[in-house]
Amino acid sequence: MSTITKILIANRGEIACRIIRTARIMGIATVAVYSDADASALHVEMADEAVLIGPAQASESYLKVDAILDAARRTEADAIHPGYGFLSENPDFVERVEKAGLIFIGPSAKAIRAMGLKDAAKALMEKAKVPVVPGYHGEAQELVVLAGKANEIGFPVLIKARAGGGGKGMRKVERQEDFPAALSSARREAKASFGDDRVLVEKYVATPRHIEIQVFGDSHGNVVHLFERDCSAQRRHQKVIEEAPAPEMPEDMRTVMGAAAVKAARAINYCGAGTVEFIVDASDGLCADKFWFMEMNTRLQVEHPVTELITGLDLVEWQIRVAAGEQLPLKQNALSIDGHAVEARIYAEDAGKGFLPAVGRLAHLAFPGGDIRVDAGVRTGDEITPFYDPMIAKLIAHGRTRAEALSKLAGALGRTEIAGTVTNTAFLARLCRDADFAAGRLDTGLIDRNIDSLTAVEAAPDHIIALAVLAASGMVRNGAEGSDPVAAIGPFEIWGSPRRQVALTSGDAEQGFEIERVGAQDWRIGGDGLEAGGVDLTMVRADGCDWQFSTAGVTRRCRVLCAQDAVTVFHEGLTHGFLRPSGARGAEQLGGGDQVVSAMPGIIKQVLVEPGQAVASGDPMVIMEAMKMEMTLNAPRDGVVSEVLVSEGAQVTDGAILVALEAQAKAA
Ligand code: ADP
Ligand code: ADP
Ligand code: MG
Repeated sequence: MSTITKILIANRGEIACRIIRTARIMGIATVAVYSDADASALHVEMADEAVLIGPAQASESYLKVDAILDAARRTEADAIHPGYGFLSENPDFVERVEKAGLIFIGPSAKAIRAMGLKDAAKALMEKAKVPVVPGYHGEAQELVVLAGKANEIGFPVLIKARAGGGGKGMRKVERQEDFPAALSSARREAKASFGDDRVLVEKYVATPRHIEIQVFGDSHGNVVHLFERDCSAQRRHQKVIEEAPAPEMPEDMRTVMGAAAVKAARAINYCGAGTVEFIVDASDGLCADKFWFMEMNTRLQVEHPVTELITGLDLVEWQIRVAAGEQLPLKQNALSIDGHAVEARIYAEDAGKGFLPAVGRLAHLAFPGGDIRVDAGVRTGDEITPFYDPMIAKLIAHGRTRAEALSKLAGALGRTEIAGTVTNTAFLARLCRDADFAAGRLDTGLIDRNIDSLTAVEAAPDHIIALAVLAASGMVRNGAEGSDPVAAIGPFEIWGSPRRQVALTSGDAEQGFEIERVGAQDWRIGGDGLEAGGVDLTMVRADGCDWQFSTAGVTRRCRVLCAQDAVTVFHEGLTHGFLRPSGARGAEQLGGGDQVVSAMPGIIKQVLVEPGQAVASGDPMVIMEAMKMEMTLNAPRDGVVSEVLVSEGAQVTDGAILVALEAQAKAA
């Protein structure tokens, strides 16, 4: 047995904060490492010590083994927790950590290697008699061979990068004729993301449900499972909402799956926390013989809190104890499920625009109090940058039943206030209340099938627009112009001239309004952007950001924030964002139809056109990668390419012009 007295966390964001919390409870000191971009990050503030390890790019900091080991040496840490992502599943890192005389809080390099590549892992699991997804995971990589295998397996098939993760390098192929194109696209993404373009081909399981088992092993040969999590609510093969236990899970299936996962872990002498992911054919409900091994994640997972809430355990504490050489705290028969837990991942992304990741400074961030767990790695004023994962926080609810947990989660999402970037909170709240999801009728296609209703943009009603105009007019001060709007609470105060013109942009449209003060507390707001043409509004009370106002005899309460060029109104679970025109900026405006412009910072993967080339509206021109996504930018109209301003591998900023079209000839 070894003693762990100081842990260096080789990670950032919410997982670094999460690990620090448990270490503190256990009386263990913590060391944060950080990049230039994270100098004032929450995990740095929370840790006992912190060491700068390099520039913003992860490859120069959070992935820099030498810098991390050097930080551990300088702070005399005796163990390293890798969190998830970054170096967490890198066996070479584990070896380097151990060679430096430190404890790696995670499995052995050997176990990580055994499960690191999906093809080898599947072969190993077949040998251990764990059911695996039917398919081809052999050596050959030629198109003819793989296409032939796909035919044998039968369409639809799924092409997967063997080194894949995070849903990358994966393509579902419905028809034989689409196979070659899908293969090269999967390969390109795999090469770019993992430096390895080898793939496997699998049967695409019908009505798929993603059900995974949390396993835990220790160095004394004990292995237990901590039941299942259902992560079927996905978009682009990435988890959106996770829960435990799985809805409608039959007890016999839970037993069989748990045993299969333990068998998988035993096959590699697994020590520490791990997850065995299975794909389940749910076309006839859940049955004990319709699940197959997909992969094993040899680390703590993003969604581990739902398991913690139904078991009452702290998985990070277990990880630390096991790493120190202790026995697992509990045996299988001492583990049981209490109630139901659901987790939602809040991301800076635009659900309505294909979940386009977003960046921005979190001008305001407030989570609901009460009976809800919030795992966040950021606070008000922090920046979501293009360098790292755009996750803002996780909200986790526990209830006696699934319905109770879902209802709590939806309510908490509705009370979450985030200004400064677009987020998926409204989408998540709608998903919680979706009829199929609420009834437990879920599979991995659920979100795609209901995407329109889940992402429908609700136009702001007249009374909200009128209120935003009032806020933007500057005629009511609400702590508006201060850097911290919540703190700058002043008395409700009226100043300036009684009539003003105000321009506001909501979505892509700019509208002009006129606002006039007609009484001590009364305003008349007019403009074409209002459905009724005009609104009479009475302010009842303004206490900082808490505004109470009435229109047409109805008094409402909402929260109003003004920061720089933005006005944000939080009302009934929705976030209504408005911009004053100087701050308005959209790809369309920037591009003006003659240019292809990047809407966000990213890296150019491929340029598909050259100067002089004729293109038709919608033709793909540039493929770029921004954050965790590959995006194709298309021609805005028919025309001829006049200039290509970027080349492959180039890093571009938000708003950069990538390709220009020749100016359009005037119609004769
Ligand atoms: P999991 O399989 O644990 O649910 P996902 O597959 O959704 O996680 O995400 C996979 C990877 O995304 C993580 O292993 C990590 O590489 C990356 N990731 C997600 N969030 C973060 C974060 N906050 N910081 C660093 N990496 C992250
Ligand atoms: P990653 O390493 O990116 O997490 P996985 O192999 O775990 O890759 O698969 C990610 C997701 O893709 C799964 O959660 C599931 O939704 C879907 N998926 C994977 N394999 C299959 C399959 N054979 N049939 C249907 N869906 C699948
Ligand atoms: Mg997976």
